[in-house]
Amino acid sequence: MTQIAYLIAATLFIIGLKRLGSPKTARSGNLAAMSGMLIAIVVTLLDKQILDFTFIIAGMIVGAALGLVAAKKIQMTAMPQMVALFNGLGGIASALVAFAGYRQAGPTRIDVAIAITTIISLLVGTATFTGSLIAFAKLQGRLRKAAGRLPMPKVLNAVVLAAVLTCGALALLDPGSAVWMPMVLVLAALYGVIMVLPVGGANMPVIISLLNSYSGVAAAATGFVLSNPVLIISGALVGASGLILTRIMCQAMNRSLGNVLFAGVGALPAGSEGSGEEPRQVTRYSAEEAAMVMDTAKSVIIIPGYGLAVAQAQHALQELADLLANRGIEVRYAIHPVAGRMPGHMNVLLAEANVSYDLLLEMDAINDDFKNTDVALVVGANDVTNHEAACCKPDSPLFGMPTLKVNEARSAMVIKRSLSPGFAGIDNDLFYAQSTMMLFGDAKQMVTDLIREIKSL
Ligand code: NDP
Repeated sequence: MTQIAYLIAATLFIIGLKRLGSPKTARSGNLAAMSGMLIAIVVTLLDKQILDFTFIIAGMIVGAALGLVAAKKIQMTAMPQMVALFNGLGGIASALVAFAGYRQAGPTRIDVAIAITTIISLLVGTATFTGSLIAFAKLQGRLRKAAGRLPMPKVLNAVVLAAVLTCGALALLDPGSAVWMPMVLVLAALYGVIMVLPVGGANMPVIISLLNSYSGVAAAATGFVLSNPVLIISGALVGASGLILTRIMCQAMNRSLGNVLFAGVGALPAGSEGSGEEPRQVTRYSAEEAAMVMDTAKSVIIIPGYGLAVAQAQHALQELADLLANRGIEVRYAIHPVAGRMPGHMNVLLAEANVSYDLLLEMDAINDDFKNTDVALVVGANDVTNHEAACCKPDSPLFGMPTLKVNEARSAMVIKRSLSPGFAGIDNDLFYAQSTMMLFGDAKQMVTDLIREIKSL
């Protein structure tokens, strides 16, 4: 019965993943995966002849309460930080459970396969934990200055990894020793820090999905230690899907994984923060002036970014798009794969405002249309429009990343509150171009003002 229940749970996970592939079926996919997880938990608790449920129930209550508060309180814009923490907690939970399983079996009775999977779980799980904490701190903007300043990251990485593996091998050879396994734990923690510290700001999406994949690998390894098939399957699913997402994110950023991990690309070059350059001139427009320009346009492409999410301007934006469409203007949205702060962030946001999926075009599908477009309306986006840095400034954190060709449109309107940089922390030449109109203000307020002005024309 237990094995059949596990099989049903695993099937529900796979159906859930499949259905998460499209916004239309995502809700039911989530529900299927949640049901699978519920079955897996209940069956595991009932199966293992647990003598005392006190700690389990206390842990579940505390964990569920913390999860509930976090999920309710965290803003959509802080999702990557939350995902980073969840990955990290998943990793350390797997590592600790594997460690406890190993200790409980007693070092002399343990077989080699279990010892090896315990070491894998300890290494990957603990590194995921500390790496995720660093990613969290970076996403919160607390560690940006330290990014990329590690001496010889590649060598350091290799040395620490070699040290972990050596301790792991010694733990295998000397199972009675109380030194080697804890050493694996400590060095793996150091490895996680060294792995994530040099990764530059703009590359954080890649590292988050990689850590997500690692947390799955750690869970799968723990599944082997505990001989629990559903943990092996769910861990493998997380590991594989995380790896696929990492690949997609790498392609979107036009980077190889090695490049992201070791080259420190995407990190700010030393001394670039707050460099005292002369302020340049921008063309500032009011909502009234912008409305008049927009009203004469035949085609408009909207470029949503992180600021749209901060301002929660998606409903107002949809109203503006409808208003323009009703005046005979062609309106479409250009979605950059890393716009916002999580994969698919803009799609989720615009779906919330019931924007039709056919109007959302991926970067590759729309990039060649900018040159034939009258107005490119940038709403709270910055890095994803920074063509100059991405194409022509080799020391820029964005160098090599494909961007939306907003600069090619006949005119660009940029809604943001100031000239502050985006996530990558660098200036954007688009704001100073002659064909760019800056509409300074909160995205929701400015879009609402535009709607009012267009209506009054
Ligand atoms: P950016 O972070 O480059 O820029 C967002 C801009 O929004 C800022 O310049 C800010 O300017 C503006 N803004 C903030 N609040 C408001 C507001 N209330 N109203 C109007 N504007 C506002 O965003 P992009 O979407 O262009 O780029 C995403 C960046 O995030 C990339 O560098 C990507 O690598 C990174 N990233 C992406 C992840 C993902 O998975 N998608 C995950 C982690 C990082 P101002 O303060 O002047 O208003």
